[in-house]
Amino acid sequence: MTTQLVWFRNDLRLADHPALIAAAARGPVAALFVLDDETPAHWRIGAAQRWWLHHSLASLGAEIAARGGRLILRRGRAGPVVQALAAELSADVHTLVHHEPWALVQEDEAGNVSRHHGVTLAPPDSVRSGTGGRYRIFTPWWRKLQEQMPPPRPRGVPDLRWADAAGVASDDLAAWGLQPTSPDWSRGFADWQPGEAGGAARLTDFARRAARYDDTRNLPSVEGTSRLSPHLAVGEVSPNAAWHVIADAVGAAAAEPYLRELGWRDFGANIIDQFPDHGDAPGRDAFNRFPFRADPVGLRAWQRGATGYPIVDAGMRQLWATGWMHNRVRMITASFLVKHQLIDWRDGERWFWDTLVDSDYGSNSLGWQWVMGSGVDSSPFNRIFAPVGQSAKFAAADYIRRWVPELASLSDADIHAPWAAGVGLIRAGVRLGRDYPAPVVEHEAARARALAAWAGVKG
Ligand code: FAD
Repeated sequence: MTTQLVWFRNDLRLADHPALIAAAARGPVAALFVLDDETPAHWRIGAAQRWWLHHSLASLGAEIAARGGRLILRRGRAGPVVQALAAELSADVHTLVHHEPWALVQEDEAGNVSRHHGVTLAPPDSVRSGTGGRYRIFTPWWRKLQEQMPPPRPRGVPDLRWADAAGVASDDLAAWGLQPTSPDWSRGFADWQPGEAGGAARLTDFARRAARYDDTRNLPSVEGTSRLSPHLAVGEVSPNAAWHVIADAVGAAAAEPYLRELGWRDFGANIIDQFPDHGDAPGRDAFNRFPFRADPVGLRAWQRGATGYPIVDAGMRQLWATGWMHNRVRMITASFLVKHQLIDWRDGERWFWDTLVDSDYGSNSLGWQWVMGSGVDSSPFNRIFAPVGQSAKFAAADYIRRWVPELASLSDADIHAPWAAGVGLIRAGVRLGRDYPAPVVEHEAARARALAAWAGVKG
């Protein structure tokens, strides 16, 4: 029987994997992952996600080995590498369709490949209006997606017979150098458990908390969200499994706020499927003329969590330490960079890409262009997040204490704006400019500057 080669990509799981299921039904299976740093040009996998990938591949390899098989690892331009192995094994090839522009190039270059749907809730190009058009705005797109929901129930791991791949060359995972060496910045990543089992455990844990999701999801001091994003980003958990486990746990109506967020992930795939360069090019032309400032010192202050705005600094330090940041704080920090500091959204997008364990081209470019106001679906430019107001409104005091410990003894009222704390600052023994930075910009002046910049280009 013909060997069936399953080409794993950011879908590193055995359960609910349509390409694996199709392959297993046809013959003995061989499993392949290719580390491709060539096809994505400047969107190569970022450093934090490389750390994740190392552990996820180790876990998938162990899971396959425990079932009597072997995960073949190869490095290079994915298309030709897949084609060469398929020829070596005289195999048919199966993979899941991914929507990043470079993923489509990889698929084209891989030659004759059976492509299966399974990365999103529904194939992006299947969500169309009555006249057959594609959607650019989330709300009507989400309404239309509902017609295909719920997605199919997740399927388990198929019965697998393995092809004889004992003599096939495979790289050594450790030699890929995906983990940081010196300095090792990944110590704060220890709470994550990359891999399919880790993803399943997190989903089960979240199912117990999901009834409180809508009340707590905007509060960074509370563990209110699922933190499933890195598992979804590399495909250890299928979106269909996330949908059904949570809908079963709390009922479809109560699950809606969560399912809608899951919908945003699909929407990101829908956007990059239509606008492949969405990570580089603004969705609205006026933003090609936007007067961004070149400010390497300001960019560095933002990256390192030293802007003098506690909620911004807490978020940026959480990101650096753990590879993840709360969604509310992603919006605040992103808005601060592009509107208070007038620094190009692409600089922020790149930093997130390199430091997030959940880096996802669709979600990241969507998030940045939404905050900038430059996307095809985005917040209006003149919606400028007020960092202090947001920090107080979403009760971020304990979150700030955790990530900006030098401010920990400030009161809940003072901690959002230490420069205005007066005697509270003295009592806490904090000196601005020595223990904690003075603000890099003043809010009202920065807001006025941003609005003036926008007025000059909006036409
Ligand atoms: P939950 O609240 O539990 O949400 C459930 C799932 O829905 C998430 O796991 C995620 O897969 C998806 N999701 C939730 N919100 C969004 C959203 N706004 N857009 C797309 N998908 C969403 N998410 C990424 O996965 N990768 C990124 O690279 C990324 N970059 C972002 C950049 C900016 C500037 C902003 C504002 C948001 C970005 N997001 C990104 C979206 C969002 O912040 C994260 O998905 C979310 O914080 C992940 O935490 P969670 O798993 O606890 O989310």
